Amino acid sequence: MTEVSTTPETSSAATLSIIPLGGIGEIGMNSTVLECGEDIIVIDAGLMFPDPEMLGVDIVIPDFTYLLENRRKVRAVLITHAHEDHIGALPFLLKELNVPVYGTRLTLGFIKDKLKEHDLDASTELVTVKPRDVIELGCFRVEFIRVTHSIVDGVGLGITTPVGRVVHTGDFKIDPTPVDNEVMDLRTFAEYGDKGTLVFLSDSTNAGQGGYTFSEKEVRRGLEDIFHKSKGRIVVATFASNIHRVQQIIDVAVMHGRKVILNGRSMIANAQIALELGYLKIPADTWHKIEALKNFPDDQVVLITTGSQGEPMSALTRMAANEHKHFQIKKGDTIVLSSKMIPGNERAITRIINHLFKHGAEVFYEKVSEVHVSGHASKEELKLMLNLIRPVFFIPVHGEYRHLVYHSQLAKKVGIPEENIFIVSDGEVMEFTNAAARRAGFVTSGRLLIDGKSTEGVERVVIRDRMKLAHDGVVIVILAIEKLSGRVVSGPDIVSRGFVFEDASQELLAEVKDVVMDTLTLMIPEAKGDWSLVSDRVRGALKKFINKRLERRPMILPVIMEV
Ligand SMILES: [Zn+2]
Ligand SMILES: [Zn+2]
Repeated sequence: MTEVSTTPETSSAATLSIIPLGGIGEIGMNSTVLECGEDIIVIDAGLMFPDPEMLGVDIVIPDFTYLLENRRKVRAVLITHAHEDHIGALPFLLKELNVPVYGTRLTLGFIKDKLKEHDLDASTELVTVKPRDVIELGCFRVEFIRVTHSIVDGVGLGITTPVGRVVHTGDFKIDPTPVDNEVMDLRTFAEYGDKGTLVFLSDSTNAGQGGYTFSEKEVRRGLEDIFHKSKGRIVVATFASNIHRVQQIIDVAVMHGRKVILNGRSMIANAQIALELGYLKIPADTWHKIEALKNFPDDQVVLITTGSQGEPMSALTRMAANEHKHFQIKKGDTIVLSSKMIPGNERAITRIINHLFKHGAEVFYEKVSEVHVSGHASKEELKLMLNLIRPVFFIPVHGEYRHLVYHSQLAKKVGIPEENIFIVSDGEVMEFTNAAARRAGFVTSGRLLIDGKSTEGVERVVIRDRMKLAHDGVVIVILAIEKLSGRVVSGPDIVSRGFVFEDASQELLAEVKDVVMDTLTLMIPEAKGDWSLVSDRVRGALKKFINKRLERRPMILPVIMEV
C-alpha cells in the first residue's frame, strides 16, 4: 500500500502523465490514468480476487482517490475488454464518479449486466464503439484497435496526445486463427510504429512463457479427443466469460450428437447476452434447461458449467460433494476442467478433482490433457509487438513484478535502450514531454477490500479479527453480575467455537471457570459493576491461562450482563 499524496508536481499542456492505479506488480485490478492539461481518461477499472488469508473479503479494487480529487477533469473510462480484472471495479468507481464508459458491444453487454446488479444501469452513459473508431476526449484522440484474447471483442488503444502517441495493448495474444475469424489488427498497430509512438504499455501476464501461445482453436482437438472416447455424460467446466471456449464446446457437442445444458448463473447470463448480440451461435434444439437432463440418454448430453476454480458455492463443487440438485456424479461420467488452474486456487481444484475420481468419474484438466490454452501473449508475440510499435519509452503492465522484469528484458533484447524502459509502481506518476520521461512522484493509491456490494472498504482490523477467528477460534464467557453488589448471579458459562474445549477434560473447563471467578474475587465491588472493566480483566486472565496451558490464542469474548 502506497500512501503518498496527491497531485503530480507539474501538469502543463506540454506534459503527459501516465499513472497506473492498479495492475502493476499484481495480476488484477487493472486501471491506468492518462492526464494531459485539464483532461483525464481512465483505461479499465478492474478488480482483483482476494488472497485466501483476506477472510470474508469478496473483492479487492484500486483506490480511486486521485480520480475523485480530480473529478472535473475525468472525461471517460475506456474499457479494453470485459474480464473482471478490467471491469470489476467499475460499479464502485461509477457510484462515486458518474462519467461515460466506452467499450465494444459485447464488453458493454457484460458491463450492463453488472451495472444492473448495482442499480447503476439507468444512470450510466454507455457508449458503444467498434474497432477503428476514433473518438475525441478533451485533448485525447483515441482509436480502438482489435486484439485477440480469451474473451470476445477485446481492443487495444492507440491514443494521440499533444505530447505524442501512446499505445496500450489491453490484454492480448496474437491468435492467427481465432474462433470468430476476427484476427488481431496488427496492421493498425504497425501504423502507430510507422507514425512514431512515444509510450507503449503492453500486457506482461505471460512474459515468462517462451515461444508462442497456442491458438484457441487448438483446444478443439483436445475436446474432440475426449468427446470421441466418452460413452457417458460429459461435464465441461470453464470461465463463463470465455465465449469462444463455450462456442467450441457447443460445436463439438453438436458434432457428436449431444444436447447442451448450461449451468451456473454467470454461464447462463453471459451466454444469453452473447447469443442476443450474435457472438455465440447455438443451433435450434441444442440448448436445454437442466431440468431436462433426465430426458436424454447419458451419451447425448454435455453440461457446461462454472466452478472451474473450485469456488466454494459453485455448481462443480456441489457436484463433487454430491450435493447438486440435478446432477449426481456416477461411474462413466467424464469431467473436463477447460481452464487454467489459477495459483492460489490449486488446492481447492485438486480437492474437487479427487472427489470426482472417488465418485467414479474420469477427469481431464490442464496438467494432464490439452483442454486449455492461455489468453495472453508469450515471449515471441511480445517481441513482435515491441518490434511493430518501436516506441521511444516502454512501460510493461499487467503482471506481477517478475513478469514486468521478464517483459523489460524482452524490450532490451529488441533494442529499446534500458534507460527508456520503466518498471513503475501503482500510484507512480510517469511524466512525459515529447522527448523525455521522468518519474514524478506518487499519487494516493492502494487496495480497497470490499465485503459484498458495499462501497465501504473492510478495515484492516476487521480482517485481522476474521483471521484470528479462523485460526484460533473463539471462547465466549457468559456471566451475569448484580450491578450493585458485584455478585455473580449466573455463570460463568463457557462456549467455544473453532477451539476445542470438548477434547479437554471437564477439569480444564472447571479450571477456566475458576480463573474467571478468581479474577472477579480480586476486583473491588465498584469495579465489578463496570462491565467493560470486568470484560477486560476476564479477557486478560483467560488469555494468559489458555496460552500457558494449551499454547493457543483464541479470541476471547466476555459477555457480561448486568442485572
Ligand atoms: Zn483479460
Ligand atoms: Zn487482465
